Amino acid sequence: MSTNEDTIEELKKIVKQKGLKYTEQREIVLKILMNADGHLSAEEVYNEIKTKHPESNVGIATVYRALGFLEEVNLITSITFGADGKKYESNQKEHHDHLICTSCGKIVEFLDDEIEKRQDRIAKKNKFKITSHSMQLYGTCGDCQD
Ligand SMILES: [Zn+2]
Ligand SMILES: [Zn+2]
Repeated sequence: MSTNEDTIEELKKIVKQKGLKYTEQREIVLKILMNADGHLSAEEVYNEIKTKHPESNVGIATVYRALGFLEEVNLITSITFGADGKKYESNQKEHHDHLICTSCGKIVEFLDDEIEKRQDRIAKKNKFKITSHSMQLYGTCGDCQD
């Protein structure tokens, strides 16, 4: 796992490679997600910015754009919910998969060695080289059943 500084350096490199101007907004959004415990929606990221970086002039549209960019370059991942949209997390976290409650939005993270190994076997059998994967299991959590 890389440190926050490493990841910021990576962001700088990517922005440079793409010939884009470096903006603080992307860095702030990335930092918020790197320091978050759970998974945040765009609105939650926006609210965090307003609390932690009140001096920055970041609007919600900018947050959406920054999230889109960061996901495109693989520094963050999103989890899609039905009507509630998406929640984001930093890719810096160790790999894990998700159980998602479509009723209350609860997210449980898990890692199952057997599932991971099976995926590798399936890929090998099909001559695939896996670069990433994500598994989202949707349903209702214990609290939301009946
Ligand atoms: Zn629930
Ligand atoms: Zn997660």
